[in-house]
Amino acid sequence: MAASCDFDVLVVGSGASGLAAAVSALAAGARVAVATKGSLQANNSSKAQGGIQAAFGPDDSPERHAEDVWRSSHETADRQLVEVLTSEAPSAIHWLEELGVEFARDGDRYRLARCGGASAARLLQVGDRTGLAITRALRQVFEAGPGTAFENAPLHSLEPLENGWRARCGEHEISAATVVLAAGGRCYAEARERGELSTNHPNATGEVTALAVELGAQSRDLDALQYHPNGGAWPSGMQGYSIPETTRSYGAVLLNIDREEFTDSLGPRDVVAQAIVDEVANGKGVETPDGRPAVYLDTTRIPTADAERSLPYMLRRYRQAGIDPLTEALLTYPVLHYQNGGLVIDPDAQTSIEGLFACGEIAGGTHGRNRMMGNSLLECVVYGRRAGRAAAVGARG
Ligand SMILES: Cc1cc2nc3c(=O)[nH]c(=O)nc-3n(C[C@H](O)[C@H](O)[C@H](O)COP(=O)(O)OP(=O)(O)OC[C@H]3O[C@@H](n4cnc5c(N)ncnc54)[C@H](O)[C@@H]3O)c2cc1C
Repeated sequence: MAASCDFDVLVVGSGASGLAAAVSALAAGARVAVATKGSLQANNSSKAQGGIQAAFGPDDSPERHAEDVWRSSHETADRQLVEVLTSEAPSAIHWLEELGVEFARDGDRYRLARCGGASAARLLQVGDRTGLAITRALRQVFEAGPGTAFENAPLHSLEPLENGWRARCGEHEISAATVVLAAGGRCYAEARERGELSTNHPNATGEVTALAVELGAQSRDLDALQYHPNGGAWPSGMQGYSIPETTRSYGAVLLNIDREEFTDSLGPRDVVAQAIVDEVANGKGVETPDGRPAVYLDTTRIPTADAERSLPYMLRRYRQAGIDPLTEALLTYPVLHYQNGGLVIDPDAQTSIEGLFACGEIAGGTHGRNRMMGNSLLECVVYGRRAGRAAAVGARG
């Protein structure tokens, strides 16, 4: 089937999901190309700080992880996709370790933090640059293999052929038996349209989702966009920075103008973000020096040892901007962060169109209408691997 194609598998996008798909398709023996909008490392995945979830704790299990996802999604997630996500989480972590990612440990156990909406400590971390560590390892493995990278090659058209696909990516025309769409979400473009701040990389613009929908791929929950509860509100250089949720895992709490707690700081993301918006609307917020709404995130409650070990990047960024989070509370307000919905996929990450796969933020269902922190990197690895394998098998016809 693939004889007339340049490649067996074309992966569009080079974040954690695209790279995981490419590495897996190569391991399955496929001829693989990755076409991406900028450089291989230009993506949201590299910006992810907090961590990745997997049930390793003594009081935890994949079933409990799945229940937390279901509850946090307000019972809107696809249960089959969630079960795959949480049951394959431990093996996804071991796979990343084999590729060179070193997760933080306390003795012989992983260092686990509890994230918003979770009933157990489950978040593995590499300092507070977890996404960078994961994407760097995946990229290095991909670059060491026989795959072909097309950088500065944004997908702008995709056409079904009798035996595969023809894609126009930048100046290149690429044919492949199967295609994996891994081009991420659209929150950068959406924030710009709304005149709001976003945590996202400028490449997060959503045109690949639109292209797939035009081809007839089914989508779900595309209207459900997530606000990160803790965007940096001040100083101006930190506006749009996502203060890691692990600040709250390690003891930081949200306070109003009277320095009173007004919500469970480790509640589900949408609940915490809404509580901040409501507190400000009720006149209990504070104002930044440039007149923006905010509340306090009291990071002075984080033990110094935890902060230095698990939040070094956040500390460095704020200290460079003139604020020491361990002696002064931060000013924060929700900021546009994540596309919860996306293309409908099955457990092999195939969209409703045969031979067209999707994984990572571009896909919907795994988180329903509200994602928990730490499950996106996990989704990228679990479904990236599945997409790569299934696309390689599909290419053999
Ligand atoms: C600041 C920040 C912190 C985060 N922290 C966490 C965290 O701690 N834990 C967690 O689980 N999740 C976190 N997330 C979410 C998570 O990082 C992302 O949702 C996830 O990494 C998305 O991966 P992806 O591979 O789907 O997309 P991305 O990493 O965004 O990659 C998309 C790729 O597609 C490319 N692309 C875009 N358009 C095109 C096109 N037309 N043609 C070709 N290529 C294209 C892009 O250039 C990029 O290479 C965070 C996100 C941000 C922004």
